[in-house]
Amino acid sequence: MKVLVTGGAGFLGSHLCDALIKDNQVICVDNFFTGKKENIKHLLGHPNFTLIEHDIIEPLFIDDMKLDQIYNLACPASPIHYQFNAIRTIKTNVLGSINVLGLAKRHNARILQASTSEVYGDPKEHPQKESYWGNVNSTGIRSCYDEGKRCAETLFFDYYRQHKVDIRVVRIFNTYGSRMAKDDGRVVSNFVTQAIENKDITIYGDGMQTRSFCYVSDMIDGFIRAMNKENFTGPVNLGNPNEFTMLELADSVIKLAGSKSKLVFKELPQDDPKCRKPDISLAKEKLGWQPKVELAEGLKKTIEYFRELKRPA
Ligand code: NAD
Ligand code: UDP
Repeated sequence: MKVLVTGGAGFLGSHLCDALIKDNQVICVDNFFTGKKENIKHLLGHPNFTLIEHDIIEPLFIDDMKLDQIYNLACPASPIHYQFNAIRTIKTNVLGSINVLGLAKRHNARILQASTSEVYGDPKEHPQKESYWGNVNSTGIRSCYDEGKRCAETLFFDYYRQHKVDIRVVRIFNTYGSRMAKDDGRVVSNFVTQAIENKDITIYGDGMQTRSFCYVSDMIDGFIRAMNKENFTGPVNLGNPNEFTMLELADSVIKLAGSKSKLVFKELPQDDPKCRKPDISLAKEKLGWQPKVELAEGLKKTIEYFRELKRPA
């Protein structure tokens, strides 16, 4: 098949390209805002791989082949990156979705949207099921991302209803692993880089807020299953239901890295959700999917990746 991946040079996108390239022709579209050539350098020159440097805010035309599938992952994902230029983040989610949905329509291609647990905001239902409509601030510093992703979901379902575009929507919960950007400010990359450098571990707030962390290989398996499942639009939650406080996460990272780091407490960012944990019953039932990699095992691999990055070539 001919499969296009927007955001293909990013953390999740580059792992997805790796998984797809064995059996498909992969077209990676990226504007390199947060993605890196380094993530895909092993794919450049592969006969099944094409790189198109393009911003999905602008319309995208592919006329020299017929696309079968599109994965829409293009969007900065970490709070510091999506808040860097909030208006661009909204444009990527709204105009970008319209552009890739138009491309899917023209090619009669199936299209999967990388949505997010952020559509639930600071949830009042716990764990979160797909039927929960969320508790989202529309005017805060996270809104460009949260409301952008919510609008993108609406666009996907309107193209499905109005134009019969064959959509899939997956709601991704916090995912971690190799190729996360060292400076993206997300909690796993922050704690791991701080721990291996024996620097203070920055806990925002009292560290009692919770998240549920999914290892990247499990997430990519979920994407591919959702894309290839017949007659199932979703939305479907993909994530690891094991829930940890940030204090527990810090403790695990320090132990696994054999670090001497101490904890320091910093101000909690505005609208930071107090808890997050996916109900994955639907993914289990419809996709036969559930995560396999435990937090300790995934963290060990992630620590090893960040240690390798520091070693001189
Ligand atoms: P990332 O920042 O590593 O990857 C995003 C990629 O999209 C980058 O390569 C970036 O350069 C590219 N991009 C951004 N704006 C673009 C634009 N306008 N045009 C073309 N390319 C553009 O982030 P990630 O963690 O790999 O996330 C991938 C997707 O998954 C995002 O849509 C994100 O919202 C979603 N997601 C990720 C997580 C997670 O925990 N990693 C959780 C929920 C949702
Ligand atoms: N966090 C933290 N220290 C850090 C980075 C993040 O305590 O150095 C907290 C953050 O406040 C949030 C959680 O970790 O409660 C997850 O943050 P991240 O930015 O990774 O993702 P999101 O908030 O989008 O789930």
